[in-house]
Amino acid sequence: MKLYTLGPVEMFPFTMNTGGKQVPYFRTDEFSEVMLSVTESMKRLLKAGDRAELLTLTASGTGAMEAVIMNCFDQQDRLLVIDGGSFGHRFAELCKMHRIPFDTVELQWGETLERGKLEETCAGHDYTGLLVNLHESGTGQLYDLNMLSAFCQEKRLFFVVDAISAFLADKFEMEKYSVDATILSSQKALSLAPGLSFVALSERILQERVDKLQAKTMYFNFKDYISNIKRGQTPFTPAVRLIYELKEMIAYIEDKGLENIVAETAAIAQDFRCKINALGLSCPGYPLSNASTPVVFPEGNAQEVYQALKTKYRMIVNPSGGELGKKIFRVAHIGNHTIEDNDQLISAIKGILA
Ligand SMILES: *Cc1c(COP(=O)(O)O)cnc(C)c1O
Repeated sequence: MKLYTLGPVEMFPFTMNTGGKQVPYFRTDEFSEVMLSVTESMKRLLKAGDRAELLTLTASGTGAMEAVIMNCFDQQDRLLVIDGGSFGHRFAELCKMHRIPFDTVELQWGETLERGKLEETCAGHDYTGLLVNLHESGTGQLYDLNMLSAFCQEKRLFFVVDAISAFLADKFEMEKYSVDATILSSQKALSLAPGLSFVALSERILQERVDKLQAKTMYFNFKDYISNIKRGQTPFTPAVRLIYELKEMIAYIEDKGLENIVAETAAIAQDFRCKINALGLSCPGYPLSNASTPVVFPEGNAQEVYQALKTKYRMIVNPSGGELGKKIFRVAHIGNHTIEDNDQLISAIKGILA
């Protein structure tokens, strides 16, 4: 089975080998050293700056999204949520669940997020924060980080970025774009098993929110994670095996170079998009993340092609939910992928359509 999905993704042999080993006990100096080293590396890869904190949570990405909402906002806030697909919608659901006032900026299928749309929604209200999935994996749209950053700075909004599916695929620099909270997860371009997520916090949100708000959660209490990580530990048992997988992945990324990995993913995405066009299929017109390509089937047979890829060719792409599912599926370019993998997938799609 070959995965062309966004997460779990095709893994690398060196991290898969880690999976078979005995999991060590973790309240030890040796494990603390590993934790401290991966924490520093993750901050470096995010270009988070020296004063940021990076917390490691044992949860899927949604856990980290929820943890940020619970630790950084309360009923006094009013948040602006970019709801341009299933993951933006999840942020809105989380605000509702935790009774945090919010408004959504909703995008129609095919619509590009522009500043005018934010201004329109904002008119007449005071907001305290903005929540966005930099790459809205539901549609493949990559939002304009520069525009969103400038908007948040002008309006003095806390800027929360779910970069789960953009990290390592698209350019991202936390400090440069004044991001206050960045959310990551292990099973996307980090190419690890699911189970770990990360939250990087700016000094501003730490001082003005995390430190001041009363904890509403025990498992996700950021203050507890922050005091523990100073000695290389987490409040509860972390996904120890995943930390070792992460350590190996970081060594790979640092050796190869972050910029090179982003450039390589961009090249694979570009190549795939050219070849898809040659088949008479297309991609949406809005800006796309390098992480994935939504493929538009003009005859509405995306689901049939998805099924045939799975059963006849043992290739898995990301089907889309709801009405959109007939029209598109998404092909991921993150993980252990090459241009040759594109050729195999293209040839399979061609075979199915013929
Ligand atoms: C995958 C993903 C998540 C996390 O989903 P989980 O299933 O909870 O890991 C969150 N946001 C985006 C944009 C994603 O692509």
